Amino acid sequence: MPEEFDVVCLGGGVAGEATAVGRRDSGLTLAVVERELVGGECPYRGCVPSKALLRSSETLTESQGARRLAASRVEWTVDFPKVPKRVRSMARDLDDSRAAAMEATGVRLFRGERKLADLRTVDVEREQLMRGMDARADHPAVPRVTFTDPEIASVGLPEAAARAKGLDVIIATADPAQTARGAVHDFHQGALKLVGDREHGVLIGAVLVTPRAGEIVLAIKLRIPLKTPADVIHPFPGFNRVPGDSLHELAAKASNKAPHDPDVIHHNQWRSQ
Ligand SMILES: Cc1cc2nc3c(=O)[nH]c(=O)nc-3n(C[C@H](O)[C@H](O)[C@H](O)COP(=O)(O)OP(=O)(O)OC[C@H]3O[C@@H](n4cnc5c(N)ncnc54)[C@H](O)[C@@H]3O)c2cc1C
Repeated sequence: MPEEFDVVCLGGGVAGEATAVGRRDSGLTLAVVERELVGGECPYRGCVPSKALLRSSETLTESQGARRLAASRVEWTVDFPKVPKRVRSMARDLDDSRAAAMEATGVRLFRGERKLADLRTVDVEREQLMRGMDARADHPAVPRVTFTDPEIASVGLPEAAARAKGLDVIIATADPAQTARGAVHDFHQGALKLVGDREHGVLIGAVLVTPRAGEIVLAIKLRIPLKTPADVIHPFPGFNRVPGDSLHELAAKASNKAPHDPDVIHHNQWRSQ
């Protein structure tokens, strides 16, 4: 007798885990089929080990900054074996402990490599079939981050794509290096561009180049009214003030008012001191 589930997820990677968590309060039954480790590529071979590797080189770069900002002489010797050792320790969940967390959400976890028999059926064993219904997801605002130094993060439509769609585009740009946070951080190469839709008064895209840009740009939701984020008080000094102040500017442009004084104007003084 085939077992039936409302949703069947072939693969227990990040997507499978997100489906398991998302299903929790939906009342739908879910089966996840995984041939290796629950968690998939991201924690074991992708995101986590690669960011651990980058963090090692970032630390070396930061310590070079000590000579400029805090010390007269800084010396260290790179210990190459230390780097992969730490990277491997980041993937310590190779014990497959994420499987228990997934099952705790109430999903049925099947082990092994399986195939789609058709769009609604997964072969588990010859005599056992699971049937699942199609599920489609809509992702209007997936953020993109390049983990360079500094990070490059973007979300939504770039200016050219927004113009190509025939939208009435408004733009705000700022140089994060020319802010108080940029000055105290000793940061010299950055950029910010926000893209707005004047007709609807909403934010439709952003690109940010700063340290930890990925963490900042994620806070920018798309299609939120420009006036809403413009009311947020951002801590001073912080890199998140840069998009914050540019949102003020964009909101003013959308309503054809004079732009609010951006952080960049206020804090050029920090550069000249
Ligand atoms: C070096 C590197 C760095 C990355 N860094 C980042 C990052 O910083 N941030 C980020 O967001 N993304 C990053 N990614 C991408 C990220 O790893 C993937 O986007 C993410 O893992 C995709 O998740 P997924 O669940 O779709 O697929 P996967 O993680 O590939 O999971 C698929 C799962 O399905 C299982 N499976 C496949 N076929 C079958 C089958 N027939 N039967 C049973 N099981 C099956 C596999 O064993 C696997 O566990 C990076 C990738 C790499 C390679």
